[in-house]
Amino acid sequence: MKKFCLILAAALATTYGFSQGRKGDPTLTEIWDPVPKIVSPGKTSQDAPADAIVLFNGKDFSAWNGKGGKPVEWTIADGAMTVKGGSGEIISKQGFGDCQLHIEWRTPAVVKGEGQGRGNSGIFLMGKYELQVLDSYNNKTYSNGQAGSIYKQLVPLVNVSRAPGEWQTYDIIFTAPRFAADGRLQSQARITVLHNGVLVQNNQAIWGGTEYIGIAEYKPHGMKEPLVLQDHGDAVSFRNIWIREL
Ligand code: MG
Repeated sequence: MKKFCLILAAALATTYGFSQGRKGDPTLTEIWDPVPKIVSPGKTSQDAPADAIVLFNGKDFSAWNGKGGKPVEWTIADGAMTVKGGSGEIISKQGFGDCQLHIEWRTPAVVKGEGQGRGNSGIFLMGKYELQVLDSYNNKTYSNGQAGSIYKQLVPLVNVSRAPGEWQTYDIIFTAPRFAADGRLQSQARITVLHNGVLVQNNQAIWGGTEYIGIAEYKPHGMKEPLVLQDHGDAVSFRNIWIREL
């Protein structure tokens, strides 16, 4: 209830801010309190089950395009892909709607920057709804922008981040939003996320496409849209990416 009130307060503050001519201020949608409790994860690793579509097996970018359909410029080494800052996001060739997604990620071992500038990437379900990837180990930022958050929307239940340079996992269960033929929203997207095996988002309703500035809103789109991994300029790595359509 407290959390809901704070989120509501943040939403109202944003609306109020807009009415006061403060449009364009990204801090209006930052939630700094509550701060998710810190939990130490157990050791986990998860191989793809037989019915999964493997999106990255450590060898090539055959399942991905770079921005504008160009070849991916990110690097591959030791079974992992790494963001090449400035080369742009990467986009899955195949579109997905309702799904179960497993993805492993690692922020740089050498800590550089702070807040949103440390180990930032992101997993955009349907290219629109960002599950944040961030080095959130002893790194203060707004709670709805830390690892395990739906960016600028949903605060994770706990902070179960591993240290920089260590591999981490996300297991995601995602239900796509539904739109009527005329484009009106019929049902919001929903998301459940396990971070390093621990529940951080429990069947939460997503407010709309994630935005850096301003309130999220839904814009109609297809039942299946590509998955996007963010280039935020930091050398974040990914491995063992697989997905099951639901
Ligand atoms: Mg991000």
